[in-house]
Amino acid sequence: MLLKIGVDIGGTEIKAGLITSQGKVLKKIVVLTEAEQGKAVVIENILKAISLIVKSKKFKKIPSIGVGCPGPLNPITGVVGDTPNLPLKGVNIKEIIKKRFKTKVVLNNDANCFILGESLFGAGKGCKNLVGLTLGSGVGGGIIINKELYYGKGNAGELGHMTIKLNGMIASCGNDGCIEEYVSRRGLMRLAESFGLRVEEPIEIYNLALKKNPSTIHLFKEMGIYLGIAVANLANAFDPDKIILGGGISGAWTFFAHSLKDEVKKRAINKANIVKGKLGKNAGIIGAAALIK
Ligand SMILES: [Zn+2]
Repeated sequence: MLLKIGVDIGGTEIKAGLITSQGKVLKKIVVLTEAEQGKAVVIENILKAISLIVKSKKFKKIPSIGVGCPGPLNPITGVVGDTPNLPLKGVNIKEIIKKRFKTKVVLNNDANCFILGESLFGAGKGCKNLVGLTLGSGVGGGIIINKELYYGKGNAGELGHMTIKLNGMIASCGNDGCIEEYVSRRGLMRLAESFGLRVEEPIEIYNLALKKNPSTIHLFKEMGIYLGIAVANLANAFDPDKIILGGGISGAWTFFAHSLKDEVKKRAINKANIVKGKLGKNAGIIGAAALIK
Protein backbone atom coordinates (compact mmCIF):
# COMPACT_ATOMS: atom_id res chain seq x y z
CA MET A 1 0.00 0.00 0.00
CA LEU A 2 1.41 3.36 -1.03
CA LEU A 3 1.33 5.84 1.85
CA LYS A 4 1.67 9.59 1.56
CA ILE A 5 1.91 12.44 4.02
CA GLY A 6 -0.55 15.30 3.60
CA VAL A 7 0.00 18.64 5.33
CA ASP A 8 -2.58 21.42 5.66
CA ILE A 9 -1.09 24.71 6.85
CA GLY A 10 -3.78 26.97 8.25
CA GLY A 11 -3.79 30.30 10.06
CA THR A 12 -4.85 28.65 13.32
CA GLU A 13 -3.65 25.07 13.11
CA ILE A 14 -1.38 22.84 11.08
CA LYS A 15 -2.69 19.38 10.28
CA ALA A 16 -0.54 16.52 9.08
CA GLY A 17 -1.80 13.08 8.16
CA LEU A 18 -0.69 9.70 6.95
CA ILE A 19 -2.92 9.00 3.97
CA THR A 20 -3.39 5.96 1.74
CA SER A 21 -3.53 6.27 -2.04
CA GLN A 22 -7.29 5.67 -1.63
CA GLY A 23 -7.59 8.86 0.43
CA LYS A 24 -8.03 7.14 3.78
CA VAL A 25 -6.57 8.92 6.83
CA LEU A 26 -4.57 6.43 8.92
CA LYS A 27 -3.14 8.94 11.37
CA LYS A 28 -3.62 12.63 11.97
CA ILE A 29 -1.72 15.20 14.00
CA VAL A 30 -2.86 18.74 14.77
CA VAL A 31 -0.37 21.37 15.93
CA LEU A 32 -1.13 25.02 16.65
CA THR A 33 0.28 27.38 14.01
CA GLU A 34 1.14 30.16 16.48
CA ALA A 35 1.17 32.64 13.58
CA GLU A 36 1.54 35.57 15.99
CA GLN A 37 4.93 34.18 17.10
CA GLY A 38 6.41 34.86 13.68
CA LYS A 39 8.11 33.06 10.84
CA ALA A 40 10.62 30.84 12.66
CA VAL A 41 8.05 29.43 15.11
CA VAL A 42 5.54 28.69 12.35
CA ILE A 43 8.20 26.85 10.30
CA GLU A 44 9.21 24.83 13.39
CA ASN A 45 5.56 23.94 14.01
CA ILE A 46 5.11 22.75 10.42
CA LEU A 47 8.22 20.56 10.75
CA LYS A 48 7.02 19.32 14.14
CA ALA A 49 3.65 18.18 12.75
CA ILE A 50 5.35 16.30 9.92
CA SER A 51 7.97 14.69 12.17
CA LEU A 52 5.25 13.42 14.53
CA ILE A 53 3.73 11.60 11.56
CA VAL A 54 7.13 10.34 10.40
CA LYS A 55 7.86 8.98 13.90
CA SER A 56 4.43 7.29 14.18
CA LYS A 57 5.48 4.36 12.04
CA LYS A 58 8.72 2.61 11.10
CA PHE A 59 9.22 3.67 7.51
CA LYS A 60 11.92 2.17 5.31
CA LYS A 61 11.71 5.39 3.34
CA ILE A 62 9.83 8.51 4.43
CA PRO A 63 6.70 8.83 2.23
CA SER A 64 6.40 11.74 -0.20
CA ILE A 65 4.89 14.85 1.34
CA GLY A 66 2.10 16.95 -0.18
CA VAL A 67 1.62 20.40 1.34
CA GLY A 68 -1.36 22.73 1.08
CA CYS A 69 -0.84 26.34 2.14
CA PRO A 70 -2.90 29.51 1.68
CA GLY A 71 -1.80 31.41 -1.43
CA PRO A 72 -0.44 33.29 -3.13
CA LEU A 73 2.42 30.87 -3.64
CA ASN A 74 4.51 29.39 -6.41
CA PRO A 75 3.98 25.61 -6.54
CA ILE A 76 7.03 25.13 -8.79
CA THR A 77 9.65 27.07 -6.79
CA GLY A 78 7.92 26.47 -3.46
CA VAL A 79 8.01 30.09 -2.31
CA VAL A 80 5.04 31.43 -0.33
CA GLY A 81 3.84 34.96 -1.11
CA ASP A 82 2.21 37.59 1.06
CA THR A 83 -0.41 35.44 2.78
CA PRO A 84 -2.60 37.59 5.10
CA ASN A 85 -2.89 35.12 8.02
CA LEU A 86 0.57 33.56 7.92
CA PRO A 87 4.03 35.14 8.43
CA LEU A 88 5.58 33.07 5.63
CA LYS A 89 6.22 35.73 3.00
CA GLY A 90 9.23 34.79 0.89
CA VAL A 91 9.73 31.44 2.68
CA ASN A 92 10.55 28.47 0.46
CA ILE A 93 8.53 26.01 2.48
CA LYS A 94 8.98 23.24 -0.09
CA GLU A 95 12.81 23.39 0.14
CA ILE A 96 12.77 23.56 3.94
CA ILE A 97 10.62 20.43 4.24
CA LYS A 98 12.63 18.63 1.56
CA LYS A 99 15.89 19.39 3.31
CA ARG A 100 14.64 18.15 6.69
CA PHE A 101 12.91 14.94 5.58
CA LYS A 102 14.88 14.11 2.40
CA THR A 103 11.87 12.99 0.43
CA LYS A 104 9.78 14.29 -2.45
CA VAL A 105 7.73 17.39 -1.53
CA VAL A 106 4.88 18.88 -3.56
CA LEU A 107 3.27 22.22 -2.68
CA ASN A 108 0.02 23.79 -3.80
CA ASN A 109 -2.49 26.29 -2.53
CA ASP A 110 -4.99 25.00 0.02
CA ALA A 111 -8.11 25.62 -2.08
CA ASN A 112 -6.59 23.61 -4.93
CA CYS A 113 -5.92 20.80 -2.44
CA PHE A 114 -9.54 21.00 -1.25
CA ILE A 115 -11.07 20.59 -4.71
CA LEU A 116 -8.53 17.92 -5.71
CA GLY A 117 -9.39 15.87 -2.60
CA GLU A 118 -13.13 16.28 -3.15
CA SER A 119 -12.78 15.37 -6.83
CA LEU A 120 -10.95 12.12 -6.11
CA PHE A 121 -12.55 10.92 -2.88
CA GLY A 122 -15.45 13.21 -1.92
CA ALA A 123 -18.45 15.03 -3.35
CA GLY A 124 -16.90 15.34 -6.80
CA LYS A 125 -15.96 11.69 -7.26
CA GLY A 126 -16.51 10.61 -10.86
CA CYS A 127 -17.06 14.17 -12.09
CA LYS A 128 -15.04 15.62 -14.96
CA ASN A 129 -15.32 19.36 -14.29
CA LEU A 130 -15.62 21.01 -10.88
CA VAL A 131 -15.36 24.35 -9.17
CA GLY A 132 -14.54 24.53 -5.46
CA LEU A 133 -14.94 27.41 -3.04
CA THR A 134 -13.56 27.32 0.49
CA LEU A 135 -15.24 29.68 2.92
CA GLY A 136 -12.84 30.29 5.78
CA SER A 137 -10.60 33.15 6.94
CA GLY A 138 -10.78 34.19 3.30
CA VAL A 139 -12.43 32.61 0.28
CA GLY A 140 -10.28 30.26 -1.78
CA GLY A 141 -11.06 28.80 -5.17
CA GLY A 142 -9.99 25.78 -7.18
CA ILE A 143 -10.94 24.59 -10.64
CA ILE A 144 -10.81 21.05 -12.03
CA ILE A 145 -11.07 20.66 -15.79
CA ASN A 146 -11.01 17.17 -17.30
CA LYS A 147 -10.14 15.76 -13.86
CA GLU A 148 -7.00 17.95 -13.60
CA LEU A 149 -6.35 21.12 -11.61
CA TYR A 150 -6.53 24.14 -13.88
CA TYR A 151 -3.77 26.74 -13.40
CA GLY A 152 -4.06 29.12 -16.36
CA LYS A 153 -0.70 30.96 -16.48
CA GLY A 154 -0.15 29.85 -12.89
CA ASN A 155 -2.70 31.49 -10.62
CA ALA A 156 -6.12 30.54 -11.98
CA GLY A 157 -8.83 30.01 -9.38
CA GLU A 158 -8.53 33.20 -7.32
CA LEU A 159 -12.31 33.06 -7.10
CA GLY A 160 -12.53 34.85 -3.75
CA HIS A 161 -11.57 38.06 -5.51
CA MET A 162 -14.49 37.98 -7.89
CA THR A 163 -16.21 41.36 -7.71
CA ILE A 164 -19.88 40.96 -6.83
CA LYS A 165 -20.69 44.54 -5.90
CA LEU A 166 -19.72 47.90 -7.36
CA ASN A 167 -18.43 50.24 -4.64
CA GLY A 168 -18.74 47.35 -2.22
CA MET A 169 -16.83 46.64 0.98
CA ILE A 170 -13.12 47.46 0.87
CA ALA A 171 -11.23 44.22 0.40
CA SER A 172 -7.94 43.03 1.90
CA CYS A 173 -6.49 42.82 -1.64
CA GLY A 174 -7.09 46.54 -2.26
CA ASN A 175 -10.12 46.02 -4.50
CA ASP A 176 -13.66 46.58 -3.29
CA GLY A 177 -16.70 44.33 -3.46
CA CYS A 178 -14.79 41.00 -3.60
CA ILE A 179 -17.01 38.03 -2.70
CA GLU A 180 -14.47 37.20 0.03
CA GLU A 181 -15.55 40.29 1.95
CA TYR A 182 -19.12 38.94 2.27
CA VAL A 183 -18.91 35.21 2.87
CA SER A 184 -15.64 34.59 4.75
CA ARG A 185 -15.22 34.72 8.55
CA ARG A 186 -14.44 38.40 8.20
CA GLY A 187 -17.42 38.89 5.88
CA LEU A 188 -19.80 37.23 8.32
CA MET A 189 -18.52 39.40 11.17
CA ARG A 190 -19.07 42.51 9.04
CA LEU A 191 -22.58 41.36 8.18
CA ALA A 192 -23.19 40.74 11.89
CA GLU A 193 -22.12 44.30 12.64
CA SER A 194 -24.48 45.68 10.01
CA PHE A 195 -27.28 43.64 11.61
CA GLY A 196 -26.44 45.15 15.02
CA LEU A 197 -25.33 41.81 16.44
CA ARG A 198 -22.69 41.87 19.16
CA VAL A 199 -20.64 38.73 18.62
CA GLU A 200 -16.95 37.87 18.83
CA GLU A 201 -16.78 34.81 16.59
CA PRO A 202 -18.75 33.46 13.58
CA ILE A 203 -19.60 30.35 15.63
CA GLU A 204 -21.72 32.57 17.91
CA ILE A 205 -23.76 33.67 14.90
CA TYR A 206 -24.26 30.01 14.02
CA ASN A 207 -25.27 29.11 17.58
CA LEU A 208 -27.79 31.96 17.64
CA ALA A 209 -29.22 30.76 14.33
CA LEU A 210 -29.62 27.28 15.84
CA LYS A 211 -31.78 28.93 18.51
CA LYS A 212 -33.83 30.49 15.68
CA ASN A 213 -32.65 34.03 16.42
CA PRO A 214 -34.38 36.05 13.63
CA SER A 215 -31.47 38.46 12.89
CA THR A 216 -28.98 35.65 12.41
CA ILE A 217 -31.43 33.68 10.23
CA HIS A 218 -31.75 36.81 8.11
CA LEU A 219 -27.98 37.34 8.10
CA PHE A 220 -27.27 33.86 6.72
CA LYS A 221 -30.00 34.40 4.15
CA GLU A 222 -28.22 37.55 2.99
CA MET A 223 -24.88 35.77 2.94
CA GLY A 224 -26.46 33.11 0.71
CA ILE A 225 -27.63 35.80 -1.71
CA TYR A 226 -24.11 37.26 -2.03
CA LEU A 227 -22.66 33.79 -2.46
CA GLY A 228 -25.37 33.05 -5.03
CA ILE A 229 -24.23 35.96 -7.19
CA ALA A 230 -20.68 34.54 -7.27
CA VAL A 231 -21.84 30.97 -7.82
CA ALA A 232 -24.14 32.04 -10.68
CA ASN A 233 -21.14 33.69 -12.36
CA LEU A 234 -19.12 30.50 -11.90
CA ALA A 235 -21.93 28.35 -13.28
CA ASN A 236 -22.19 30.58 -16.33
CA ALA A 237 -18.41 30.65 -16.85
CA PHE A 238 -17.62 26.96 -16.32
CA ASP A 239 -20.90 24.98 -16.47
CA PRO A 240 -19.23 22.41 -14.18
CA ASP A 241 -20.71 19.07 -13.07
CA LYS A 242 -20.72 20.40 -9.51
CA ILE A 243 -19.78 23.46 -7.51
CA ILE A 244 -18.47 22.22 -4.15
CA LEU A 245 -18.36 24.37 -1.02
CA GLY A 246 -15.95 23.75 1.86
CA GLY A 247 -14.20 25.54 4.71
CA GLY A 248 -15.45 26.26 8.23
CA ILE A 249 -18.22 28.66 7.21
CA SER A 250 -19.78 26.03 4.93
CA GLY A 251 -20.79 24.32 8.19
CA ALA A 252 -23.69 26.80 8.30
CA TRP A 253 -24.95 25.27 5.03
CA THR A 254 -28.50 24.63 6.32
CA PHE A 255 -28.91 28.34 7.03
CA PHE A 256 -27.68 29.75 3.70
CA ALA A 257 -28.19 26.93 1.16
CA HIS A 258 -31.78 27.90 0.39
CA SER A 259 -31.17 31.57 -0.45
CA LEU A 260 -27.95 30.59 -2.24
CA LYS A 261 -29.76 28.16 -4.55
CA ASP A 262 -32.65 30.59 -5.13
CA GLU A 263 -30.26 33.36 -6.12
CA VAL A 264 -28.34 31.06 -8.47
CA LYS A 265 -31.57 29.91 -10.11
CA LYS A 266 -32.55 33.53 -10.61
CA ARG A 267 -29.25 34.60 -12.16
CA ALA A 268 -27.53 31.65 -13.84
CA ILE A 269 -28.21 30.71 -17.42
CA ASN A 270 -26.62 27.31 -16.79
CA LYS A 271 -28.14 24.89 -14.33
CA ALA A 272 -25.90 24.63 -11.28
CA ASN A 273 -25.43 21.65 -8.98
CA ILE A 274 -24.23 23.15 -5.69
CA VAL A 275 -23.17 20.80 -2.93
CA LYS A 276 -21.26 20.78 0.33
CA GLY A 277 -17.93 18.92 0.42
CA LYS A 278 -17.89 15.42 1.90
CA LEU A 279 -14.39 15.23 3.38
CA GLY A 280 -14.98 17.81 6.12
CA LYS A 281 -11.96 18.83 8.18
CA ASN A 282 -9.77 16.20 6.50
CA ALA A 283 -10.26 17.63 2.99
CA GLY A 284 -7.03 19.65 3.25
CA ILE A 285 -4.69 16.79 4.22
CA ILE A 286 -6.36 14.29 1.87
CA GLY A 287 -6.11 16.77 -1.01
CA ALA A 288 -2.51 17.68 -0.17
CA ALA A 289 -1.52 14.00 -0.18
CA ALA A 290 -3.34 13.59 -3.51
CA LEU A 291 -0.95 16.15 -5.05
CA ILE A 292 1.58 13.33 -5.13
CA LYS A 293 1.02 11.23 -8.21
ZN1 LIG B 1 -10.07 40.77 -3.35
